Amino acid sequence: MNKQHTEERKTFSFDRSISSNIIHAEPDKYKLLEDISFKSTKIINIGSNLSYSPLGFSKDSISINIKKFNRVLEFNSEEKLITVEAGLTLIELLNFTLKYNLWIPQLPGYPSITIGGAVAANSHGKSCAIHGTIRKSIKSILLFHKKHGWIKLSEKENKEIFDLTIGGIGLTGTIVSVTFKLKQIESHKFKTKKIETNTIEECKKMILQENENSSFIYSWNRADNIKNFGKGIIYKNYINNNSKVFRTFKEYKNNFRPFFIPVWNKYSISFINFIYFKINQLTKPEKKEDFLSVIFPFYGKESYFNFFGKKGFIESQLLIHESKFDSFISEFKNLFIKYEPTITLLSLKNMSGQQKFLRFEDNKICITFDYVNNSRNLLFMSKIDNLYEKYEILPSIIKDSRITKEIFNKTYKESSEFKKELQNFDKERIYQSEISKRLNI
Ligand SMILES: Cc1cc2nc3c(=O)[nH]c(=O)nc-3n(C[C@H](O)[C@H](O)[C@H](O)COP(=O)(O)OP(=O)(O)OC[C@H]3O[C@@H](n4cnc5c(N)ncnc54)[C@H](O)[C@@H]3O)c2cc1C
Repeated sequence: MNKQHTEERKTFSFDRSISSNIIHAEPDKYKLLEDISFKSTKIINIGSNLSYSPLGFSKDSISINIKKFNRVLEFNSEEKLITVEAGLTLIELLNFTLKYNLWIPQLPGYPSITIGGAVAANSHGKSCAIHGTIRKSIKSILLFHKKHGWIKLSEKENKEIFDLTIGGIGLTGTIVSVTFKLKQIESHKFKTKKIETNTIEECKKMILQENENSSFIYSWNRADNIKNFGKGIIYKNYINNNSKVFRTFKEYKNNFRPFFIPVWNKYSISFINFIYFKINQLTKPEKKEDFLSVIFPFYGKESYFNFFGKKGFIESQLLIHESKFDSFISEFKNLFIKYEPTITLLSLKNMSGQQKFLRFEDNKICITFDYVNNSRNLLFMSKIDNLYEKYEILPSIIKDSRITKEIFNKTYKESSEFKKELQNFDKERIYQSEISKRLNI
C-alpha cells in the first residue's frame, strides 16, 4: 500500500455517538484508487463524513476518500447535463451551475457534503415533496469495484447495480463520477414567508394544504415541554425572480468543534426556543433570504451542533403516512409526559417518492427530532422505536446511529432483497461500514 496516501485516524460519526480508529486513504489518481482497492480486504467509501451515523467507516475497513477527484468533467448547457467527479462538494457544484441558472433541487442541507455521499445516501432537500430525492436527477454513474473494475451504470446499462448504488450507502463500490440532469432556476435569491402554528397536528395539516402552492415548505416546532409541544413556525420559501446576477459563493471550512462542556439542557433549550419563537413573532412575516441560508440552514450556525458537547446528540428522522400521524403523535406525547426527554429540535416537511431497498423515501410526512445523547433520552427513543411497526414508520439509517438490526429488518421491508442482490454482485461483500455490519447488510 502506498503509505503516502494513507493514515490512521480516530474518526467519529457526525452525531459523535460512535468512533473508531481507522485507516484513511486519499488517492489522487484513478490508478491509486485501483491499487489501494486491490490491496485492501475490506473497504468503505467516505465523503465529508457528515452522515450522522457511522456509514463511512469501520474498524475493519479502509476508508477511501476521493475528495481529490473533484473536477467537472463534462457540461452541456443546452441539454442541461453535467458530469462531475464524486469528490466534488455541493457548493463547488453550485458555483459552477448557478452561473448558467441551473442546479439540482435535491440538495441536502450542508455545502461540504460530497456528490458521492449525497448519491450513496439518496439525499433529499427541502423541496422533497415536489422534487423527491437526488435519485430523480441522476442520469448515470461511473463506479469502481475491486472485483468488477470500472462499470457504467444507468437505466440502460447495469440497471440492477445502478438501482443498488443510489441510496446503497457505499456498499456497491466507489462512485467515481455522476452525470446529472440539471433543472432551470430563475434566480438564486428567495423570499421567505412565515406562518405561526399552535400545535403539531395543525402544523401537519397546513404543510399538507400549502404543499401545492409552495415547493419549499417546512416547520420549526417546540418540543422542549409538553405544554408548548408543536408550537412553532412554518416557513415557505419562494424563488425571488428579481435577482439574476450570480456571485460565486465563498467557501469556509467546516466549523464543527464540539464544546468541552455541553450547553444544551432542558433549561437552555426552553429559553432559546422561547426567544427564537418571540423573534419570529415580532419580525415581518415576509423577508428576502439568500440562497445559502435557505438551502443550507446550518451553514454558519454550526454552534447548534457544537453545543451538544463531546457526547453529541442523536437525530431521529421518521417517515409516516399522514393518516397515521395524529395517533402516533398522541402516543408520542403520552410517552413524553412519562419520560420527559430533552428534545432540541422538531421539524416537519413533506416527502415524495417510492420506498425501495435502503432508501429513505416515500409519499409521507418527514418528522425530525434531535435529542441530547443521555440515558433517559435513549430509553425514551427505545419506547418510540416500538411504535414503528404499528404506525408503518420508516426511520432513517443515515440520521439515527442507534438503529438495531431488529428495528431495521422490521421497518425496511425490502432490505432482504437489497442484501440478496448485493450478495449476487459481490460474493465477498468487500465494502462494509459500522452500520452495514451492525444491520447485517
Ligand atoms: C448539517 C447537515 C445537514 C444535512 N441535511 C440533510 C438533508 O437536508 N437531507 C438529507 O438527505 N441529508 C442531509 N444530511 C445528511 C447528508 O446528506 C448525508 O449524510 C450525506 O451522505 C453526507 O455526505 P458526505 O459527503 O459527508 O458522505 P459520508 O458521510 O462520508 O458518507 C455517506 C455515505 O456515502 C458513501 N459514500 C461517500 N462517498 C462515496 C463514493 N465516492 N462512492 C460510494 N459511496 C460513497 C459512504 O460509504 C457512506 O455510506 C445532512 C447532514 C448534515 C451534517
